[in-house]
Amino acid sequence: MIHIKNARICDGTGAQPYPGELLIDGEKIAAVSHSPLGDLDAEVWDAQGQAVTPGFIDAHRHCDLAALYDPGFGQIELAQGITTAVMGNCGLAPAPCAPEHRKELYDFLEPCLGKAPEDSFFPKVSDFMGALEAKPHPLNLGVLAATGAVTTAAKGYGNVPFDTDSRKQAEAYLRDAMEAGALGLSCGIMYTPECYSTTEDFAFMAGIAGEYGGYLTSHIRGEGNTLTESVEEVLEIGRRAGVGVNISHFKVTGLRNHGWGIERAIEALEKARSQGQDATADCYPYTGGSTTILSLVPPTVLEAAGNDVNAFLGTPQGEKLLAGEIEKEFADWDNMVSSIGWGRIVLSSTELAGQSFAQAAQSLGVSESRLFCQLCAENQGKVGVILMSMAQEDVERVLALPYVSLISDALYGSGDKPHPRLYGTFPKFLREYPDFGEAVKKMTSLPAKRLGLRDRGILAPGMAADVLVFDPAAFTDRATWEDPKQLSQGLTKILVNGQEPVPGAGRLLRKK
Ligand SMILES: [Zn+2]
Repeated sequence: MIHIKNARICDGTGAQPYPGELLIDGEKIAAVSHSPLGDLDAEVWDAQGQAVTPGFIDAHRHCDLAALYDPGFGQIELAQGITTAVMGNCGLAPAPCAPEHRKELYDFLEPCLGKAPEDSFFPKVSDFMGALEAKPHPLNLGVLAATGAVTTAAKGYGNVPFDTDSRKQAEAYLRDAMEAGALGLSCGIMYTPECYSTTEDFAFMAGIAGEYGGYLTSHIRGEGNTLTESVEEVLEIGRRAGVGVNISHFKVTGLRNHGWGIERAIEALEKARSQGQDATADCYPYTGGSTTILSLVPPTVLEAAGNDVNAFLGTPQGEKLLAGEIEKEFADWDNMVSSIGWGRIVLSSTELAGQSFAQAAQSLGVSESRLFCQLCAENQGKVGVILMSMAQEDVERVLALPYVSLISDALYGSGDKPHPRLYGTFPKFLREYPDFGEAVKKMTSLPAKRLGLRDRGILAPGMAADVLVFDPAAFTDRATWEDPKQLSQGLTKILVNGQEPVPGAGRLLRKK
């Protein structure tokens, strides 16, 4: 047993910290008390007035491959206080995977999930979860089924509608995932091939997850000019499928949409909530986003390109078409290049990492669109970009909404200049947010509730002993845009399931 004395307990419910004591027995919390628990037969930790909180839960990381293949996995997460990390987000996942689409799928995933060994291959989500469980981890992991991977495995990347056979395939993949204990379902409606799927296709897939108690978290179709319609589409999917929905990384992009754009979307979300719909959102505390270069390719170019968009962009014909389309406005697709400009699109991988398209093109003496095509062709589209697309006031507005929890949306693409959220999200938010108790809630009980993790996220008897001890003044992030690969620092103690976070302390959390 561990007896923590002289603590300032912040229990994760949103309550403010109070002086108290905590008793841990094995993997569980045995007691939380305002008054001294007396002399117990336990190891005593004197917290010396530091905060004691539940371990943080990151419902949105892209650590699917890192968790399996990065031998140092857990270091970046634990330094931020993350004791539970959930993967399979934005519809992106390495499973399920059909052999004929393996290369396409893994090439597409690489800027977000990082590189996988040549022989890595998971036909089903249950296979992937089996591999995760076979490796001892220092923190808890959870998996979402991802409709992008399901759709790709069922019918490939092309613009072809689902038919009876491919729907049956998709259903079988989803049932396998949910029966194996996936915590829910994610989709990435903005990404290929999901941008070709209909609202009805998503309702069909979400309905299957719903049969197992899963919810749907959604990277929506558009986050700029079409934000409100895109939020409404997810609400509609939730209603048709009868499942709870969550808007992933809720934000408004595009300089012209700053300020007013988010208000309209919040209104749509709150109207649904006031009518009793289970609808929530989450957000990361930065004004830049991070994604793959391929998400910037206009749909007209994708269509003309056929199967291999990167090869197409390497041809004079492809380059010419892209140059004509890349700065155009589209009615039903957010063009990030036209809405924020080349100067706010920063490369996060390749030897040009750290430079914006505008800077890199100027120094190389080429046009931005030519550079864009060259990068896609030379790297098979495996190029990460950071989009400085948001306004600080909008980010703060969203984070303060009571139904919005904190996420990192951390990408693990192998770039030298990753988005700093990979290293610093949780302490950054805690440092900046005006209400400590509420901030801790947004990192603990709120995501636990959304994920259906009933025994985590709150300090209370019987709950799993994922516990942090720290001085809030010393706990801080150090990752910046210029120098992002800096571990957070300042935690005094971390317990994962009642243990020091050594490999094997973490569990794979399966939906019960
Ligand atoms: Zn996303």
